[in-house]
Amino acid sequence: MSTYDVAVIGSGPGGYVAAIRCAQLGMKTAIIEKYNTLGGTCLNVGCIPSKALLDSSHHYEEAIKHFEDHGIEIPGDVKINFKKMIDRKASVVEQTTKGIDFLMNKNKIDVLTGVGSFKDETHIVVSSEDGDKTIEAKNTIIATGSKPATLPFIELDKERIITSTEALTLKEIPKHMVVIGGGVIGLELGQVYRRLGAEVSVVEYMDRIIPTMDKAQSKELTKVMKKQGVKFYVSHKVSAVERKKDEVTITATDKKDKEVTFTGDYCLVSVGRRPFTDGLKTDKAGVKVNEKGQIEVNEHLQTNVKNIYAIGDVVRGAMLAHKAEEEGVLVAETLAGQKPHIDYNLIPGVVYTWPEVASVGKTEEQLKEDKVDYKSGQFPMRALGRSRASGDTDGFVKILADKETDEVLGVHIVGARAADLIAEAVTAMEFRASAEDIARMSHAHPTYAEAVKEAALAATENRPIHS
Ligand code: FAD
Repeated sequence: MSTYDVAVIGSGPGGYVAAIRCAQLGMKTAIIEKYNTLGGTCLNVGCIPSKALLDSSHHYEEAIKHFEDHGIEIPGDVKINFKKMIDRKASVVEQTTKGIDFLMNKNKIDVLTGVGSFKDETHIVVSSEDGDKTIEAKNTIIATGSKPATLPFIELDKERIITSTEALTLKEIPKHMVVIGGGVIGLELGQVYRRLGAEVSVVEYMDRIIPTMDKAQSKELTKVMKKQGVKFYVSHKVSAVERKKDEVTITATDKKDKEVTFTGDYCLVSVGRRPFTDGLKTDKAGVKVNEKGQIEVNEHLQTNVKNIYAIGDVVRGAMLAHKAEEEGVLVAETLAGQKPHIDYNLIPGVVYTWPEVASVGKTEEQLKEDKVDYKSGQFPMRALGRSRASGDTDGFVKILADKETDEVLGVHIVGARAADLIAEAVTAMEFRASAEDIARMSHAHPTYAEAVKEAALAATENRPIHS
């Protein structure tokens, strides 16, 4: 029987990063993955393929809507080769997952293909078509991730009533896609198909889209996506989804309790994700799973069984790849006797629509609720030379700072390259910078990042230069 210092179950961004860091720290490591490709949700059916389609559809939209403004004329019609677009996405995924094979090899991590399940606290059975193999592991890291969630009355047929996984491999562009859920995944994929010509209706239960982000961001993104042709139905509670042949009817009640129906050829159900532990046999090791289906962990990401840890989407907290990665590193370093730490307040959240939406720290609504005395500085993207040059004038940077100490408490951006811009905010907040610290740093001109400096100036003493 093979024996390991660490066995990692699941090869998503949590699992493979944990495995690499364990190997770097000298531990004999195995990673168990039930699929033939490594990389988990993120690389196979999440972050990477969705960004590939967002980029392809963005290029198309630029060509049909904005090239002309730049004096670029295309003789004849611009056409979509949807199959090629989907094939390109598949090849991006393939290159990326192969990169993980390379990294496993480089770090001498044993890759075991099959479903991992506990036999007891220190033994794991790996089941595949070739039969069962049992390994012994001094420590185990559970990184089994999540799967799309649904509503109890919705039967996902995965053809017309679909999740994000199917939406990434459609064979045709929908005529009318009804998206249930105005969160990150629904908006990103909704925007992809809107750009490609579909009618897109987003039906959201809460009174605004991206409800966990700053209200100003929800408002701005709604405004911009409406301009792009997406229809929004907030405060609508979906009560039924029915398919008849190639038609799907979605029934909802609005806030006045009036029944509304939407008919489309596809319905994308994007109502969140559920932690995934099916087949893991946690009970055999005595690992506790809570009522939400998450594996219970303490602040060291240790389960109630002391040699078993859990990370990523299968535990509490934001379901984000970079959060899973940080947790993977934390557990590896803890096992090596170090004392790592994660500041969950500084895990940024991003929506990769265009304009992008990015956020870190507290929202204005949270600060109000926590009764924190704060000040706010906001700067519009349209006032930047860089934005005018590219034509990306939607959005803003908003900085929230402590009224007394000027410490930055939250940064919320809507705009071109917001996903990259937020890194400056994370760095500043990690070092507990004040708004004035950011305001006094030189930002290259012309860049979108100048909006961060200007918003910091606005937050410091309401003294932006360019507005
Ligand atoms: P996962 O990536 O889910 O990996 C878990 C792995 O464990 C899977 O490969 C699974 O097959 C394997 N597994 C499960 N059980 C077993 C078992 N018993 N034996 C063996 N193997 C097992 N996050 C971002 O940060 N940025 C984004 O842009 C982004 N975009 C997304 C877009 C979409 C459409 C979706 C669906 C998600 C997106 N996410 C994004 C979320 C991100 O994908 C997840 O947060 C991330 O993948 C979680 O990583 P993980 O390692 O916890 O689990």
